[in-house]
Amino acid sequence: QYLHSAETENKRLNAYVKLTPEAALKTAAEVDRKLAAGEELSPLAGIPMTLKDNISTNGIETTCCSKILRGYTPIYDATVWDILKRQDAVLIGKANMDEFAMGSSCETSCFGGARNPHNTERVAGGSSGGVASAVAGNLAAFGLGSDTGGSIRQPASFCGIVGLKPTYGAVSRYGLIAYASSFDQIGPITRSVEDAALVYDAIAKYDPMDSTSSEKAQPAFSSLGKDIKGMKIGVPKEYFDGVREDVKAALQNALKVYESLGAEIVDFSMPSIQYSLPVYYILACAEASSNLGRYDGIRYGARTEHYADRDEMICKTRSEGFGAEVKRRILLGTYVLSAGYYDAFYKKAQNLRGTLIRAFEDAFAHCDVIAVPTVPMTAFPLNFTAQDAVETYLTDICTVPVNIAGLPGISVPCGFGGDSMPVGLQLIGARFSEPALLNAAFQYE
Ligand code: GLN
Repeated sequence: QYLHSAETENKRLNAYVKLTPEAALKTAAEVDRKLAAGEELSPLAGIPMTLKDNISTNGIETTCCSKILRGYTPIYDATVWDILKRQDAVLIGKANMDEFAMGSSCETSCFGGARNPHNTERVAGGSSGGVASAVAGNLAAFGLGSDTGGSIRQPASFCGIVGLKPTYGAVSRYGLIAYASSFDQIGPITRSVEDAALVYDAIAKYDPMDSTSSEKAQPAFSSLGKDIKGMKIGVPKEYFDGVREDVKAALQNALKVYESLGAEIVDFSMPSIQYSLPVYYILACAEASSNLGRYDGIRYGARTEHYADRDEMICKTRSEGFGAEVKRRILLGTYVLSAGYYDAFYKKAQNLRGTLIRAFEDAFAHCDVIAVPTVPMTAFPLNFTAQDAVETYLTDICTVPVNIAGLPGISVPCGFGGDSMPVGLQLIGARFSEPALLNAAFQYE
């Protein structure tokens, strides 16, 4: 049934860039066989799901929705997919995304953007827009996205579903095609907090193949349902600057729900939040410029057709293969890493990253979770982000701080804006506090 709706509905939503029906039916048949034989099934056995197209799948083309990776078929599985495969999860297809996960609307994809199931004249968000569109549109029961500066939480918020960006190090990045390695983290996009906890518990495992993988992640599912009376919810006022009034109103209603559940709202100030966008865009672009150096037409994917020598081949492959947003970030990143500018930009941004990490540590000394908007607005109309790159970057203001500090953050639906589009409430926790964080989200839901 999921395959059928994926095949028919995808024309409308453009959530999938590739469907994998043969493999899906084969896994489903294997689950049937195990059921008939009375074998024990894994928690995610037989569940139809999707993966963002920057998660490596052995034998299945993985493009990051970039022309430069068309035709690239990985010869190994990302650890997260290896885990899910062993559980007999059913991959319906690979999901659309902004090119190399750079964007906020999914529209930098070389396949065109994914649409929002609530209103197809709006974007699904980005960069994991395809996963959010597929899950919200019922073309997959859950999906895995990646979040470098909000790419799980923002599309979840735009599509009215749940998106969890885990603590940095909780989920293996092995086989995730890198954008900005010190920020990237894989996480679930689901229709409920319960589902997010189930998927998180499956994938949050130590992995020796990722040098930043940690052993500290604790399972979250068994914590759902615990009483939150007396829980302190911090509300930093800076996060509400520039937030649209109808979005603010939805958030205020959510905070009232928490008060009625016995939580205590603690208003406070986090002035250093003002640095988070420049810190993010300097550091993420610097890392991207280095990570994307490997696409030279020799090792992966597409190569230009006509060239005289090696240098021209590399130059033409990159000029033809990368889209405008990716090129902009490579240039910006190369610039901030250049001799003479390194101290002025890169080093300053690294220092400020430390300031932001400490600001969150101080905050968690007096509150259990932080509640803020996920995005200052609801889903953009189509083509909105094509107009001005900097305007688009500004809309990431509420999501990037979590990645800068390596914290877990979850977006849960909290009503609708004046335009009838979903609004997201973002809850942020201390490092490796997923059990308490997911329970806080579960209580609201
Ligand atoms: N919108 C942000 C960006 O364009 C976040 C992207 C992400 O998390 N992958 O960089």
